This record gives sequence, C-alpha cells and structure tokens, in this order.
Amino acid sequence: MNIPFSPPFIDQSVIDQVVQTLQDKWITTGPKVKSFEQEIVKLTNSDAAVCVNSWTSGAILMLKWFGIKEGDEVIIPAYTYCATALSVLHCGAIPVMVDINDDFCIDPEKVRKAITAKTKAIIAVDIAGWPCNYVELKAIILESEVNNMFTAESDKQQLLGRILLIADAAHSIGATYNGLSSAKMSDIAIFSFHAVKNITTAEGGCICLNLPRSFNAMTEYEYLKIYTLNGQNKDALAKSKGGGWRYDILFQGLKINMPDICAAIGLAQIKKYTNELLPKRKEIASKYCKGLEQMDWFIKPPLQDNERESSHHLFPLRIMGITEAQRDRVIDDLAQLGVAANVHFIPMPMLTYFKNLGYHIEDYPVAYKQYSCEISLPIYPQLSDAEIQFIIESVIATVQIQVNKPAQAEAKDKNKKTRKAIVSTRIFGHGHQTHI
Ligand SMILES: *Cc1c(COP(=O)(O)O)cnc(C)c1O
Repeated sequence: MNIPFSPPFIDQSVIDQVVQTLQDKWITTGPKVKSFEQEIVKLTNSDAAVCVNSWTSGAILMLKWFGIKEGDEVIIPAYTYCATALSVLHCGAIPVMVDINDDFCIDPEKVRKAITAKTKAIIAVDIAGWPCNYVELKAIILESEVNNMFTAESDKQQLLGRILLIADAAHSIGATYNGLSSAKMSDIAIFSFHAVKNITTAEGGCICLNLPRSFNAMTEYEYLKIYTLNGQNKDALAKSKGGGWRYDILFQGLKINMPDICAAIGLAQIKKYTNELLPKRKEIASKYCKGLEQMDWFIKPPLQDNERESSHHLFPLRIMGITEAQRDRVIDDLAQLGVAANVHFIPMPMLTYFKNLGYHIEDYPVAYKQYSCEISLPIYPQLSDAEIQFIIESVIATVQIQVNKPAQAEAKDKNKKTRKAIVSTRIFGHGHQTHI
C-alpha cells in the first residue's frame, strides 16, 4: 500500500470548472470568485465572505483592518500552525500564547488570565475541525471587568467597543456548534483553502464576517475587497471593460486577491461538500473509532458532543502513555508500511523562531502532552475501505511494538536499512511482502 496523507480531491467536476475558466479566458478575480464567495456565505450563513490568497494573508488583513499595531496584544493558543502567531507579528503586535485543553482548543480560563489593557483580539483555533468554546470566550470578552479594560484606538475598535473574537477556522469549514458554523460563533472567521484542507483552491482563504449591527456588512465587504487589491477602487474585470480604464488608489492596501482559476477548484468542491465530501470524512472517522476503540491505549479525538460536531479535517489519534520518541517511531514504522501519518501540531514554543522570541514549552504543559502522543491519520473522501482497514491494522501493529517493547531493545532498531524488514516481519509475520 502507498497511502498519502492528504491528497486534494480532484474529480471530473473540478477539472471541468478549471477548464471552463481557462476557456472563458478570465483567470484572475472575477465571476468564479464571486460564485465561490456566495457558496461560502450559504454554507456558513455569514453576512459576507471575502476570498483571499491564503489564510495567513486574510489574518494579516483583518488584524490591520481592526487597527492592530505595534505594542498591541493578541491572545492565541500555543498549539496551532505558526501562521496564527505570524499574522500577529506581521502587524507589529505581540502574540500572547496560552495553553490548551484536552480537546486541543484554547483554554478560556487561561485566556481570561492573559487579558490586559493592551489586548485587542483573541484568535481561537478550531484544531482538527473541532470548534472552540466560543460561548465561553464571548462571555469572557463581555465581562464588565474585561470590557472596561478595552480602549478603542481605531474606527473599527470604536465601532466594536470590545475585544475582537477571530476564529482560525482553517480546519473547520462545515463544523457546527449548536448547528452553527464557527463563522457565526465569532466576529470574524478565516478559512484556509490550502492544498491539504477540506476544501482547496490550491492556495487560498476566506474571511467571513459576522460583525455586530454597528457595522454594515456590505460596506465592510466592499472595503475589504479593495483592501485585497492594493487599495484600488476598481478590480481588473471592471477595468477591462471598454472605457473603464480610469481608477484610483484610496489607501495603502495589500495584494492578496484570489484568482478565478483557483476559485474554480474550490467552487466545484464546495458544491459537493455538505452532501458528499463531509459525510465521507465523518464515515472514515467512525471507522477509525470502531477499529481502534478496543485498544486500551486509544484516546478518541473530539468529534461530536451535544453542541459540537467536527469537520473531520484531521483524525488526531492520541496514544495513552507513549513518549514523544515512541510516537516518532510509530510514524516511521507507518511510513515503512506505506502509510503517511503526520503530527498536528508541533507547539510553536518548540520551534526555533518562537524559542528565540522567548516562548518556553515548559509554560504550555497541556500543549506538550497532546503533541507528544498525537498522530494524525490520513482522512479524505478518496480513501477506500481496504485502505482504511490497512491503516487501522498498521496503527495497531506499530503502536503495539512501542507499547510492548522494553526501552533497551529500541536501540537495535535504529539501523534504517533493516527497519522496513523488522517492521514488516513483526507486523505481518515472516516473509510477508509490503508494497511500498
Ligand atoms: C493551514 C493553516 C493555516 C494557514 O493557512 P494558509 O492558507 O496556508 O495560510 C492557519 N492556521 C491553521 C490552524 C492551519 O492549519
């Protein structure tokens, strides 16, 4: 078997959309982006959706839009992809990292303790597609003690009058909280359409607005669209029309618009998402649970409770009692068997850049605990039943080696050349051929 971790979903409908875009000869921002934005609004029920060329650029845009600047603080979890912190740093502000809970999401109590007079925003991350506790986060923001600390320093901050709640919904398109998208549980949600995400545009992202009534969603939408185009008041499509050459630059914008050729991929996928692609992911997660739940080391990922349902972006398996080094060996062994697994995430305080900025992993014990025993299994609609079964058997076998093995014996397995043979023999008996 050779099972990749997360290949993009590309069927005939995706190819047709892309080919049609090429044939129409309009490849940058235009009608495909518009249709895609409308589909996202339908799926999330948000007031407006602005497509951009990545989650990262969308986050930078929204922090700038809110007037976040040098010296401001933005509270984020230590357990996320680096982009969450980098977007804050790009605005000159300070990412204040706090620890997570056992469900991988930011701990609202730690958020409360981290709030200061400089706090302008909180970015909560729906890890693996599991929505954060937005109800509690919103309640904390609205507490009078917290709210009294907030000082508005820009027009948008004035209009909001409190800390901005941003959802890093890079993983969670289609997830629900009391039936609602994370885009309805926060002020602003940003989705990612990077190649490995549930819906992809190769690279891309989308900002969904769910601002209070003091804002006009259409006005903000139009302002943000201009912001994504260098602050230019007319997009390329409008300019291309006969006589439409004159334009103006209204302010210092960014250049982060999504091209139509990219939107075409996402547009074909989103049409199949709710009825086909998302249910398939859920089905695979259930099969993994069924196949692994008898194992006493199996810690089930958060997938569903009375309020929430995951978008099943990842299947973040955790193995009870395993060390970081043992987890690494399980992943190596899985690779030898042809199963590409992954880890989500290396906590940011463990990465060189953030270490150098002064963050220490010792301050985030839950993040480290989750990271050290986590393995993300392949989960995507194209997986066949035979592949799912093979992954389950391979996980059980490779974990069992680590769980049963005395520490001294491990050194012998270090020789990479023999590793494949050892794993294959241990798992499938002598002489079994693995197809790698
Ligand atoms: C993928 C990802 C991002 C970044 O998305 P891009 O579109 O690649 O910029 C941000 N946050 C999380 C949690 C992610 O997984």
